[in-house]
Amino acid sequence: MLNFILDLIFPKFCVGCNKFDTHLCQKCFEKINFYPFPLQPEINACALEKIILMAEYGGVIKKLITALKYQSVRDIGQTLARMIYYTTNFPRTNVITSVPLHKKRKRQRGFNQATEIAIELSNLTNIPFIQLLKRTKYSKPQAQITDKTQRLSHLENTFTINQSLSQYQSVLIIDDVTTTGTTLNECAKVLKQNGHQKIYGLAVAHGN
Ligand SMILES: [Zn+2]
Repeated sequence: MLNFILDLIFPKFCVGCNKFDTHLCQKCFEKINFYPFPLQPEINACALEKIILMAEYGGVIKKLITALKYQSVRDIGQTLARMIYYTTNFPRTNVITSVPLHKKRKRQRGFNQATEIAIELSNLTNIPFIQLLKRTKYSKPQAQITDKTQRLSHLENTFTINQSLSQYQSVLIIDDVTTTGTTLNECAKVLKQNGHQKIYGLAVAHGN
């Protein structure tokens, strides 16, 4: 009933073709370029086992992520998590976490888009979600920095451990978009330094 009421107040339209009553219709879903294989990141001394990518960052995927991040259409996080769940082969880890936002940016946006996706993925898989990391440095989005070495130094000491209840055998870190995997790897480094074993990255989309 509540969903019904919310739908009337906030009607949904397909981001691809404006079809009523859905964020993404079947026809537009079928046009997505899904990635069949995980990516071996090209990072020296990579702390990640692998990076799983759902799809290319373009078309309706880009539109969904833009609506989630910049128009704050919060329940698109659920749509994206369901897409990951049904189309992507990812490891069933002990715990799911997300790339954290700085609290200032979280306040601006109202929520962390990666956490929205991670929590829904946690609901679908019954793997617990724990916010293991926090972002201590407020900085401009990684996508706005084109130079690779700058990207790296820009991220140094950005993340710290948020809570260390236990040390897990395997952790899956969720992000919305990744280009080189640098951010996911910085998160993985901190987790490994704090005793977590195998760290996997999962991004909804690959590209800028
Ligand atoms: Zn459509």
